[in-house]
Amino acid sequence: MYLKRVELQGFKSFADKSVIEFKQGINGIVGPNGCGKSNITDAIRWVLGEKSAKAMRGDAMTDVIFSGSEDRKPQNLAEVTLVFDNEDHHLEYDANEVEITRRLYRIDKEAEYFINRQPCRLKDITDLIMDSGLGKGSLSIISQNSISAFVSSKPEERRVLFEEAAGVAKYKKRKRESVNK
Ligand code: ATP
Ligand code: MG
Repeated sequence: MYLKRVELQGFKSFADKSVIEFKQGINGIVGPNGCGKSNITDAIRWVLGEKSAKAMRGDAMTDVIFSGSEDRKPQNLAEVTLVFDNEDHHLEYDANEVEITRRLYRIDKEAEYFINRQPCRLKDITDLIMDSGLGKGSLSIISQNSISAFVSSKPEERRVLFEEAAGVAKYKKRKRESVNK
């Protein structure tokens, strides 16, 4: 499973429909300051269920909607779709390609979610990605802040991160849960 494509429209600096294709393996995004590199990772976290406006670097969630520029009016809707290659069926969804979409309207602040274009709840998305290593709190997205925190952390704190990365943390959590039963 890998992220094959990100499609953005009306999300932050991406006013027009933009399609970003990724290849399997390591991909790099380069560009001058302020050109929208971090907005792409924001978009990925947003679709995967990020609920905090602050984590999206805004004050309100509607701040992710294109707010206009000198020659363009603000938009009323932000929509981002992540397309995962799922040929190995790593995501428990019976399709070779899984598209996850999040939409947000400025007027009613309503969010809409879709899996392969079928309307769904956010919970359906979090359930789908929970065991895939993509979920919230996983190490699939490491922000600049967490790198600074890692560098300045104590050895015990660092160990927790290594355990998380090695996949040991979930077994420790299960052990704690069964001991406490
Ligand atoms: P750096 O190299 O400095 O990290 P970057 O390429 O990561 O830069 P981003 O932070 O992704 O840049 O993009 C910042 C740009 O996105 C700013 O120009 C900002 O005005 C624009 N932007 C953010 N939110 C919106 C919005 N809602 N509407 C329009 N533009 C936005
Ligand atoms: Mg950046």
